[in-house]
Amino acid sequence: MLHIALTGGIGSGKSTVASMFGQHGAPVIDADEIARDLVRRDEPAYHETVRAFGTGILDTNREIDRQRLGERIFSDASERRILEGIIHPRVRQEIIARTTLASFPYCIIVVPLLLEANMQDLADRILVIECSEQLQIARVRTRSSLSEERIRRIMATQASSAERRLMADDVIVNDTDLADLQRQVDRLHGQYLALAALTRPPSA
Ligand code: ADP
Repeated sequence: MLHIALTGGIGSGKSTVASMFGQHGAPVIDADEIARDLVRRDEPAYHETVRAFGTGILDTNREIDRQRLGERIFSDASERRILEGIIHPRVRQEIIARTTLASFPYCIIVVPLLLEANMQDLADRILVIECSEQLQIARVRTRSSLSEERIRRIMATQASSAERRLMADDVIVNDTDLADLQRQVDRLHGQYLALAALTRPPSA
């Protein structure tokens, strides 16, 4: 199975593109969703995170308050690295477990922080989604209540589009409408099927 890592900045269109590949039947594995599940109350990474950051990050249900934790790691790079040390190895393990279970010529692994988390080796190809900063901000603002300042702070912690482009095997430019995005996904779907057929080991 061909492993396609799908990455891009906040609001670039990763979830939208992933669901378009999903409609073609491709299994979609979402690293953010895995990371969220890993720190649910009483999961092993939950206990490790609370030990590292203290009970001040818990809400009244003793769940980790992701917003509070997010504030801390955005304002302190060393704390961010501590959290990444807890979460990333487990996310990596879970991605590998899920790709082993999937059966389709290719799968899509959505890893927003692919470069930052050094997970490039999990992928046979890297698909980068790009869109202008202004569009990223406008799209995130229609989707959530995050302020422009907060979105810019998040973008500042993420790899730049130049850094992503250096790693990209394929690029989707998501600067126009959804119909154009769909056409780009359809074309790549065809390419990935063809590539997977080429790389499939001959049957006995
Ligand atoms: P990401 O997962 O990279 O953060 P999303 O896929 O959630 O980005 O896209 C951000 C927002 O922009 C969503 O509300 C999505 O519906 C919208 N969006 C994405 N691409 C387009 C597009 N080409 N035209 C219009 N809206 C778009």
